[in-house]
Amino acid sequence: MNYLPAKERYQNMQYNRVGKSGLKLPAISLGLWNNFGGTDPIENQRAMLQRAFDLGITHFDLANNYGPPAGSAEENFGAILKKDFANYRDELVISTKAGFTMWDGPYGDWGSKKYLVSSLDQSLQRMQLDYVDIFYHHRPDPETPLEETMEALDLIVRQGKALYVGISNYNAEDTAKAIEILQENKTPFIIHQAAYSMFNRWVEDGLTDVLDQAGAGCIAFVPLAQGLLTNKYLKGIPDDSRAAKDHIPFLNEKDISEEVLNKVMRLHELAKERNQSLAQMALAWVLREETITSALIGASRVSQIEENVATLDNLAFSQEELKAIDDILG
Ligand code: NDP
Repeated sequence: MNYLPAKERYQNMQYNRVGKSGLKLPAISLGLWNNFGGTDPIENQRAMLQRAFDLGITHFDLANNYGPPAGSAEENFGAILKKDFANYRDELVISTKAGFTMWDGPYGDWGSKKYLVSSLDQSLQRMQLDYVDIFYHHRPDPETPLEETMEALDLIVRQGKALYVGISNYNAEDTAKAIEILQENKTPFIIHQAAYSMFNRWVEDGLTDVLDQAGAGCIAFVPLAQGLLTNKYLKGIPDDSRAAKDHIPFLNEKDISEEVLNKVMRLHELAKERNQSLAQMALAWVLREETITSALIGASRVSQIEENVATLDNLAFSQEELKAIDDILG
């Protein structure tokens, strides 16, 4: 069946400017790190991407290594894009990254110009695209000179393979250094992709100041702490959850400690008082920071995307609520 996007798709989503750039991102974006790989049912992937777009999610985030196997999320996304979104490329902001291990040998990892340029070429082929909207360096490389990595980002833009560039997982100090080089080169750096959630507040400790000063934005990844900041684990570990999946090593039973669950339960109670689910409160909380342009969620099913987008119905916090959250988080 041909997919026809919902006519009212732009009515309820909020679009936030990325720093002082010309680009806006939806307040909720969808990442394809999990559940879009070679072993995940393609019809569910298709349904999630379609529903996301129908709800105004115009930004999809990928990386060279998303899968498993690495590369398969880009391949699947490319195939779905061709089938369902061919007429809507200009309504989408597609990002990808390189920086983690992708192929064997000395040129398939970290931050050399050699790796970044060829990795993006491969990503474009897998996604069947001429360009991406944002290309990120995925993690800092302690060995390659920062100048070289930033020059690679600059080259990629000048080659027409990306419109904007970003960095991810750089600390505040390295971000400031990178921005200085990028500004000297007049590279369109606009965004940092950083982990940020109620359970991980490191960006508040200097990074957002650096980004504000540079007129750049921040997109918050893992805003739900991989599902911990939802009601999912309150009654044990469901069989179909990320924590139960052996092939996903990033969230395990040991991460769901009694201490964590205790906090989750109290946050859940507070969310109920706001007439929100915990997932919704966790996303609204991330978006309360002005530097945060978008909350970059993951999802395993359509209903999660629907619930998460409905966060926008209540983004406001009272001072008392913020204090209560701080108290729970300790
Ligand atoms: P989240 O913290 O949003 O976790 C998503 C998971 O939480 C889902 O897979 C689902 O788990 C669960 N979930 C989501 N919504 C709900 C809901 N309403 N109710 C119950 N459970 C829910 O983010 P991710 O860890 O998925 O990461 C998001 C994106 O961030 C990635 O796809 C990627 O694009 C980016 N990222 C970037 C990194 C970087 O280094 N730059 C690193 C990591 C991620 P379940 O599958 O169990 O149903």
